[in-house]
Amino acid sequence: MGETLTAPMCLAELARFSARVGADPLLVQGAGGNTSVKADGVMWIKASGTLLADALAKDIFVPCDLAAMRAALAHPDGRADQTEAFSLRPGGLRPSIETSLHAVFPHAVVVHVHCVNTIALAIRTDSPKVLTAKLAGFDWAFVPYTKPGALLARAVAAAMGPATDVLVLGNHGLIVAAETVAAAETLLGRVVAALSVPPRRGKPDPQALAARAAHGFAALPADHPLHTVAIHPDLLRAAEAGSLYPDHVLFCGVGAVVLHPHETPAQAVARHVAAGRPKPPFLLVPGAGALMKAGASAGAVALTRCLGDVLSRVPEGATLTYLTLAQNAELLDWDAEKYRLALDAAR
Ligand SMILES: [Zn+2]
Repeated sequence: MGETLTAPMCLAELARFSARVGADPLLVQGAGGNTSVKADGVMWIKASGTLLADALAKDIFVPCDLAAMRAALAHPDGRADQTEAFSLRPGGLRPSIETSLHAVFPHAVVVHVHCVNTIALAIRTDSPKVLTAKLAGFDWAFVPYTKPGALLARAVAAAMGPATDVLVLGNHGLIVAAETVAAAETLLGRVVAALSVPPRRGKPDPQALAARAAHGFAALPADHPLHTVAIHPDLLRAAEAGSLYPDHVLFCGVGAVVLHPHETPAQAVARHVAAGRPKPPFLLVPGAGALMKAGASAGAVALTRCLGDVLSRVPEGATLTYLTLAQNAELLDWDAEKYRLALDAAR
């Protein structure tokens, strides 16, 4: 293979579909989400740290040795997470950390998205029950939160039936699989339509926000969905209580920081850092809206919007499942994710 490797015809079709998916912040935020196609024993998958939105402008797909990845997954050690070892273009971009997740599907095309409508359900303690009602007619499975990578790939493989083509990942997102790109796009659209709920809205108070803005933190645009979280007391409590999905931890830190009365943004950040947590890119001002730190990375900006999009779809009275502090820590200490964060910082 190597130099003689040529991309399959359907890779161009996958790139067009990937660019559409990547352009929708309700499906994918920042460098999250990934797509793949298998042809002739080679799995072409999005490279780690690249954006699906760039699929037409850049070469974001890496060819991987599918049989070798599947063989590695049979070993309980971490070798399947060393994704660069499976690239058929050594020294190039590193295959997605979710490469093993795509390899367990027998389907030719796999699409993994951080769909906000899915996440809004997949963070609820009653998500299997709610999903059962909404996904009647699909061959689907639910996998409780598992650290992304080989552990998650094995959990997904164990949960799948012979014809399962829809996977909801607890506190994470959605996977759909099909034999063609067109069929995958159709299935994704049907699942998202089945799971969609209208968001709650909350109008920010520009004057109250301006009064609290300082130290590089300024009010987000009036139509930003994170304001809704600061306006509704139940959503504010939900945001402050902890982290709900991996990319939030990676790009926005642990949970969300609420600006206390008489506290400055610098004091709120210092309080959070003193608790051993990363600096937050945004602050929630109860009843007023959200402030964003100037110069935050593209990933932080995307995941800040995502939190608003997700929580505004959580109904009042729903109870949520949070990532444990140990799960937060394992995400922040993970070498593969540090690589992805470094690419984001350089963008
Ligand atoms: Zn993911």
